[in-house]
Amino acid sequence: MHYEGKIYRPWIESESLLIQTTIGCTHNTCTFCDMFREKKFRKRKLEDVLADIEEARTLYPYVGSIFLTDGNVMVLKTDYLLKVIQKIKETFPELTKISLYSSYNDLNRKSVEELKILKEAGLTMAYIGLESGDQHTLDFVEKGLDHDEIINGARKAKEAGIRTLASFIFGLGGKARSQEHIKATTDLLNIIQPEEIAPMALALQPGTTLEQQAKDGEFIQASPLQILEEEKYLIENMTFDTMYWGDHGNNITPMKGMFMESKDRFLTYLEHARNNHPEIHQETLRTFAW
Ligand code: SF4
Repeated sequence: MHYEGKIYRPWIESESLLIQTTIGCTHNTCTFCDMFREKKFRKRKLEDVLADIEEARTLYPYVGSIFLTDGNVMVLKTDYLLKVIQKIKETFPELTKISLYSSYNDLNRKSVEELKILKEAGLTMAYIGLESGDQHTLDFVEKGLDHDEIINGARKAKEAGIRTLASFIFGLGGKARSQEHIKATTDLLNIIQPEEIAPMALALQPGTTLEQQAKDGEFIQASPLQILEEEKYLIENMTFDTMYWGDHGNNITPMKGMFMESKDRFLTYLEHARNNHPEIHQETLRTFAW
C-alpha cells in the first residue's frame, strides 16, 4: 500500500480502507484549508492504484467500505474511475460502500449518464465541501463556486442516484456575516437537499490565509454564541429529511441523527448548551486543527 503525504478522510469514514487515487486537490486555494497545500495535484498511475487494491486484499480479510483519497477524486476521467471501482468490486465482493471527495463542479463536468455508469459500477457516495450558501462568503474564502454550479452539480448527483454529503462551516462568514451566511446556507440546502450533511465549527488552521486575515483584523471570528445561533437557525429552518452529522469534535454541541426526526432533540441540546457551555460567552471558540 502506498500513500503520499498527509492523508485526509471524512471522520465518518474512520472505518474505511483508504485507497489513494489522486495526490492533492485541483483547487487548493480555499483560504481556510491547508489539507493539500504541500501537494501539487496529479492522478496516480492506474496500475499503481490497482496494485494497491490487490495488496490490500492480502492484508484485510473483510472490507466493508472504501474511501478514495485525496482531494476531489471525482475530477478524474470516468474511464479511469470505472476501472478503479470495477477492480475494487471484483477484489472485495463483501464491500457495501465506495465513496470519494468531489466538488460540485466535478459533477458538472460529467454527464448524468456518466454518473449513472459510476453509480451502477458501485460508487455510492460523494463528500462535497459546500462551506456556505452565502456568495459573499464563498468569494471571500476563494471557494470558486456559485449557486448555479452548486444547484446543478447537486441535481446531477441526485439524478444519477449518487448520495451526497454536503459539509459546511459554522462561523465561516465571521462575526459580521454570521446571519447572512447561515440564512443563505440554509436556503441553499433546502434547494439541493443532500442526503447527508456535516456542519462543523470553523477552526483556523495554522498557516492558512484565513488565519493570517484573523491576525490582521481583516476577519473577525464569530463568537461561540453566534455559532450556536447559526446551528439553531439551521435546525429550525431546514425543511427536508437528511442524515445530520453534527458530531464533529469542534462543534459546540456534537450531535447526530436523522433529521427531521431528531429536530426537537437537537433544539433541546442547543438550549442546554446556551445555558451551560463553559465557553458560550467567550470571544472565540476553542477549536482544534483538523
Ligand atoms: S476546501 Fe476542498 S476544494 Fe478547497 S482547497 Fe481544501 S480540499 Fe481543495
